Amino acid sequence: MSRFIEAINGVKIPQLGFGVYQIKRDKNGSFEKNINEAIHAGYRHFDTARIYGNEEALGDVISNSGFARKDFFLTSKVWTTDLGYEQTQRAFEKSCKKLNTTYLDMFLLHFAGPHYVESWKALEKLYSEGRIRVIGVANFEIEHFEHLRKTAKIMPMINQIETHPKFQQQKLREYMSQNQILHEAWGPLGQGNKSLFENDTLKTIARSHQKTVGQVVLRWHLNRDTIIIPKSSNPQRIKENMDVFDFNLSDEEMQQIAKLDTGKRSSVDPKGYQVNPIFVRLSKLFLK
Ligand code: NAD
Repeated sequence: MSRFIEAINGVKIPQLGFGVYQIKRDKNGSFEKNINEAIHAGYRHFDTARIYGNEEALGDVISNSGFARKDFFLTSKVWTTDLGYEQTQRAFEKSCKKLNTTYLDMFLLHFAGPHYVESWKALEKLYSEGRIRVIGVANFEIEHFEHLRKTAKIMPMINQIETHPKFQQQKLREYMSQNQILHEAWGPLGQGNKSLFENDTLKTIARSHQKTVGQVVLRWHLNRDTIIIPKSSNPQRIKENMDVFDFNLSDEEMQQIAKLDTGKRSSVDPKGYQVNPIFVRLSKLFLK
């Protein structure tokens, strides 16, 4: 159902995946229901992270899904408190254990926090041992890549960054394309922001295709060869977000959407990203 984007090493990544940020396990089994809905709808690529606190829950659902591990494409991320050579290797083993797997399809540095260069060396090692199929980063800016380039044996194969029609990342995209770094969008639906869903241009395009604004936004990403991982806890929307392969946007519509870029991100600016020591102490208490 979904198409694939090839990483520089030939690994095929399902272009449309499912993000699990803020979906938590509860007594009512909502997490399990949610992920099973997604599997049923055809999603096989799942994006989690240590900081989301749901790797174990995701691992359980996948193990009990009736599908083989190799049918899934699983991504997790190294949290900022786990940066450093040894720490990152330990974090990888923990993520694998929780996800009930011996390897990860993709493992990303979540932010370019202190010691990210040493962490990258750990990812290179794990990659050379065949434990990770695609190594990459998230929230990296050009300056981070250029710094890493001085010592890296392998450059990151993918960068997961905030991207949606209101924040299109044009400059970084061009740099990544020149350097064969794939673009993966987090917040592909602008995290459900009203200003996106109520935009007149998007509403008009959606009406003309008898699709929803969400579907038009996802189709726009697909046409730009971006890998996307929209999240939803609503069964109807989980299906809707997958139903984007039976229509296309014209060049003119793509250009109309290009004009919606405000250049303003809605989340933290990774350029000035500093780790607050209080936050580090607190997250160490809360992360198992
Ligand atoms: P998103 O853009 O996927 O938006 C999700 C929200 O959009 C939902 O909570 C819901 O309110 C709304 N929505 C979903 N489908 C819809 C539809 N069809 N119609 C209308 N509204 C709809 O935002 P996200 O969850 O923040 O990002 C997706 C994934 O990216 C996350 O789950 C996570 O896996 C990853 N992520 C990574 C980082 C990072 O720093 N690397 C940061 C944030 C998220």
